[in-house]
Amino acid sequence: MSAPTHTRIQEVEVQALDAARLESLIGAERMARYEEVADAAQASLAGHAVLNVSSTAAGGGVAEMLHTLLAYVRGAGIDARWLVIQGDPGFFAITKRIHNGLYGYPGDGGSLGQAERKHYESVLQRNSEELLALVRRGDVVLLHDPQPVGLLQAIKRAGAKVVWRCHVGRDRPNEWTQRAWEFLRPYAQEADAYVVSRACFAPPWARAEQTFVIPPSLDPFSAKNEPMSRRNVRMALGYVGLLDGDGSPPIVPFTRVDGSPGRINRHVDILQSGPPARVDVPLVVQTSRWDSLKDMAGVMEGFTHHVDPSLGAHLVLAGPAVTGVADDPEAGEVYDDCVARWRALPHATRGRVHLACVPMVDPGENAAIINALQRHASIVVQKSLAEGFGLTVTEAMWKSRPIVASAVGGIADQITDGEHGLLIRDPRDVQAFGAAVERLLREPQLAARLGGTAHERAASEFLGDRHLEQWGELFARLG
Ligand code: UDP
Repeated sequence: MSAPTHTRIQEVEVQALDAARLESLIGAERMARYEEVADAAQASLAGHAVLNVSSTAAGGGVAEMLHTLLAYVRGAGIDARWLVIQGDPGFFAITKRIHNGLYGYPGDGGSLGQAERKHYESVLQRNSEELLALVRRGDVVLLHDPQPVGLLQAIKRAGAKVVWRCHVGRDRPNEWTQRAWEFLRPYAQEADAYVVSRACFAPPWARAEQTFVIPPSLDPFSAKNEPMSRRNVRMALGYVGLLDGDGSPPIVPFTRVDGSPGRINRHVDILQSGPPARVDVPLVVQTSRWDSLKDMAGVMEGFTHHVDPSLGAHLVLAGPAVTGVADDPEAGEVYDDCVARWRALPHATRGRVHLACVPMVDPGENAAIINALQRHASIVVQKSLAEGFGLTVTEAMWKSRPIVASAVGGIADQITDGEHGLLIRDPRDVQAFGAAVERLLREPQLAARLGGTAHERAASEFLGDRHLEQWGELFARLG
């Protein structure tokens, strides 16, 4: 395993967004509360920076959230910055194993012993000099997920407060979670605070007063979630190849994080055996990274074996282009497995299943395509075997989509079964999954009701004001 002797930490540009634009959605009272907390947080930070350290700037929920959340933090007068560490394939294979371990799975089956520890530490050692040059005494450093957590002690020695924000976890520990915690504990146990999406995801050694439960949020004005007319949705999907269309691009551009307009220029790489679905065909959609715990293969099985084909629905499994997510080494393998299963389907069934790799070259364009796809979906599904929070679920809720999802991790905190969507108790139960999808296809009134209550829940619980208020409280406690 050869690696360069030095690395270049990437600094992601963070825009400043004024949270005032949320007021039209959250009302004056919520806005006033938010502003009070923003003032208090700014005062307790006293000019110190909030540095976020992660391992990828694109792909997955963490990157999705940081792009917009940090812009609002900066807009509140706080010097929020975002740094991305660099690793080699060996490093990301180890950290993916830890990630899967925290979800309670063995991952690639490799070990987490002394050799892995040595490699993990050596890669972080190469990142540390450059990172430490950016940290000042009194700054707050938020380390996201297991990849950068080995830097924690060095950052503390530099006089910063360090928070470990772990986005993943398992509801009940098992041997694999235990193994992952053992690997991480020597680095992570000195954190000043821990932030998790659910209380049961906290590290086993974390004291209650150090542990903050802060679920994520979405930005209703980002390219992923901004309003899109039905006409533009159809044109966008027709242009990229996901729907039958005349190939004309959407008329209205999407909005980039800096507020400038962007255009959809690229096509989606789609595996399909016939034409794309017609506009009037019900579409069942899962949007996920190509990760075995998202169980794209299980979605395909549930849909093809347990949903009545005479209902005429099509399935779209959409994920990022497989080379697009730097810290996700399993993507190619998981995608190839889906392709093999797709090829094994009977011809007529195969024509109703579309595998889509959405280009990641331009993150705004990627977001706009996903936005259109989620808005067009008759049903959004998220059949994860494990889940930290599940931003794709929040996104679908915001878009008033009827949802079928597994009752795992943060999904169970977002959806009450029968109220905001339908939950599958056993995430491996493909029959129950297919039955729930079929039920929503047959009962459009139920589907519309669930979509409506899902939107209300997202508006009251999962927008930035609630999220930023919780971070503000944490900064005040650290100060
Ligand atoms: N996503 C995307 N493009 C894709 C696939 C996924 O932008 O091709 C986004 C998706 O919309 C969501 C995030 O990636 O915002 C996935 O977050 P989630 O919390 O669902 O899962 P994670 O990837 O963090 O495990």
